[in-house]
Amino acid sequence: CGIVGYVGPRKVVPVVLEGLRRLEYRGYDSAGVVYLQDGALVKYRAEGKLINLENRIGDAIVAPSHLGLGHTRWATHGAPTEKNAHPHSDCTGDLVVVHNGIIENYHSLREDLKAKGHIFNSETDTEVLAHLIEEHLSDDLVAAVKAALKEVEGSFALGVLWAKAPDMLVAARNQSPLVLGVSDDQGSFMASDIPALLPYTDQVVFLDDMELAVIRENSYSVQSLLTGEEVDKVVQFIEWNAAM
Ligand code: GLU
Repeated sequence: CGIVGYVGPRKVVPVVLEGLRRLEYRGYDSAGVVYLQDGALVKYRAEGKLINLENRIGDAIVAPSHLGLGHTRWATHGAPTEKNAHPHSDCTGDLVVVHNGIIENYHSLREDLKAKGHIFNSETDTEVLAHLIEEHLSDDLVAAVKAALKEVEGSFALGVLWAKAPDMLVAARNQSPLVLGVSDDQGSFMASDIPALLPYTDQVVFLDDMELAVIRENSYSVQSLLTGEEVDKVVQFIEWNAAM
């Protein structure tokens, strides 16, 4: 299971696919990517190996998009089908979530959200996150993610993309690994593990439990989900040879 997110000068789909390939060692049963193009989200998902996803993507590998997310899923809730593969969307289709981990209280959240009119398209625990963020969203994505995560019990490494905040990705972590990749001229990254970042940067920021990050092409920030305060993170330099 793995997460890759990217915003920057490169075309996003190849960056995300290469990152997912470099996370294959973690194991997975299905995969998906999403990117923003002309103000709308474009999503591809497939059961099985990455090659199936690549076949679906076809010529869109060169899509002129510079913001997106990818995911390899190790199913915990819901069969390893295309419909259950991430990214998962909210009702508007403008918000997507990729997630590693387990939302322990997903069942009661899902019942509450259904009662409020949300329609679910998968059997995953993850999909509640998309709807829960939507429920809290007016115009501030970070505030909505924070409000949603206050209601969530369980483990998560999370990537969130909202078509109406087209210059950023939100990441959050609790008990599932997530690192940021930062750089002077290659854009910004999130990933489950360092190998996904190494073709592009050797500067990484390790998120700790209950931290949320915002990444933009030329900047990043991290805050505590517990206190809401900005956290001053240390950028670590990875030695390429040692890490490859
Ligand atoms: N619990 C989620 C699911 O089953 C995420 C699994 C994972 O970590 O890949 O869809």
